[in-house]
Amino acid sequence: MSKQLVLIGGGHAHMVTLARLRSFVDKGFGVTVIQPSEYHYYSGMGPGMLGGTYQPEDIRFATRQIVEKKGGRFILGRAWRIDPQKQLVYLEGSEEEIPYDVLSCNAGSFVPRGTIDGQATGVFTAKPIEELLHAQQSIMEMAASGPITVAVVGSGPSAIEIAGNVRQLCTRQGAKATARIKLFAGREFMAGGPPKVRRLARTLLEKKRVEINTSGYVKQIEGGRIRLENGEDYPADIVFPAVGVKPSPIFARSGLPVGPDGGLQVNEYLQSIGYDTIFGGGDCIYFAKKPLAKVGVYAVRQNPILYHNLMASLTGGPLAKFSPGGEYLLIYNLGDGEGVFAKWSVAFAGRLAFTVKDWIDRRFIRTFQE
Ligand SMILES: Cc1cc2nc3c(=O)[nH]c(=O)nc-3n(C[C@H](O)[C@H](O)[C@H](O)COP(=O)(O)OP(=O)(O)OC[C@H]3O[C@@H](n4cnc5c(N)ncnc54)[C@H](O)[C@@H]3O)c2cc1C
Repeated sequence: MSKQLVLIGGGHAHMVTLARLRSFVDKGFGVTVIQPSEYHYYSGMGPGMLGGTYQPEDIRFATRQIVEKKGGRFILGRAWRIDPQKQLVYLEGSEEEIPYDVLSCNAGSFVPRGTIDGQATGVFTAKPIEELLHAQQSIMEMAASGPITVAVVGSGPSAIEIAGNVRQLCTRQGAKATARIKLFAGREFMAGGPPKVRRLARTLLEKKRVEINTSGYVKQIEGGRIRLENGEDYPADIVFPAVGVKPSPIFARSGLPVGPDGGLQVNEYLQSIGYDTIFGGGDCIYFAKKPLAKVGVYAVRQNPILYHNLMASLTGGPLAKFSPGGEYLLIYNLGDGEGVFAKWSVAFAGRLAFTVKDWIDRRFIRTFQE
């Protein structure tokens, strides 16, 4: 049997590998891609899709189609466990064993559900991005029949973008007067962020009548209610938990070396520190040399190195080192064509910020959408 390359997840760090998948096939290697959806959604445009700026097809990659067109095998499923000694991947709810010679993991991250009551309805986590589409439908249905209250829990980039874009969605649906949007930001709005960026984002959200609550952390999310650690509780028809994400649990479950956050611990070659046949990129790894923020920027920067090292590993060539690079640009889409731009000491808010983000995002997606 020819050597087998297996990819878990067709996420942001696998874009180049997927685009050049044929180069593996042409060398006689088998390529299998495992993903629970036929599409991978570009998270940078997810809040814009929630707000109605983009349609789902504008912001997704047709992973199955790309893989099959280039001669690979696509498996619609969820990788559950890796056996690094036998070099096998097991799927959730299936007996099938997927053998690999080289494995690359880009299974992303998830929003922990620890504070969410299992029975609660109307709760939509910030990831996977498909959840935002379901949330959009629920908001539109509810807003059509009366006043609604939408709660967003968190105050990082995804939380503020969701809050701003829920406002845009409600405005577009004509529910302007009846939608209350509350951002439960813990004890401090955008804690740890640069003061100017925090000030600009806050001003813009307040202009959009997003009510920012900083009286305490959310302790429990129940059907229709949010309870804070300080005993306060608030009604909410729709809740978006958008608190910090955690890496996919596959690696801990598989007994692979992981970092303190549970991410696959990798060296400078984006290679597992325990098994040289396993690589990874994006939110699911723990880059031991310099722990990285869970932002798509790093996943995107890892692309060429991951592609090179997977090919080198299969053909016996030398591996290349990944360098995280310097400061990165962040632009928050806060809805209604407005955003906040932040890089180095430059920060400004308004339409230009969103226009720049929209241009960058559309260009990125066009490059890989095929
Ligand atoms: C709402 C929101 C907005 C954001 N905006 C930005 C932004 O503007 N800029 C920025 O830099 N960052 C942004 N981020 C952060 C960014 O989303 C992440 O850093 C980025 O998604 C990481 O990419 P990834 O490919 O590692 O993971 P993901 O995007 O999560 O992709 C993982 C892929 O793996 C698949 N997968 C998951 N589990 C399995 C499994 N068990 N088996 C097989 N496949 C699996 C998934 O289906 C998915 O296709 C945002 C995050 C959110 C939530």
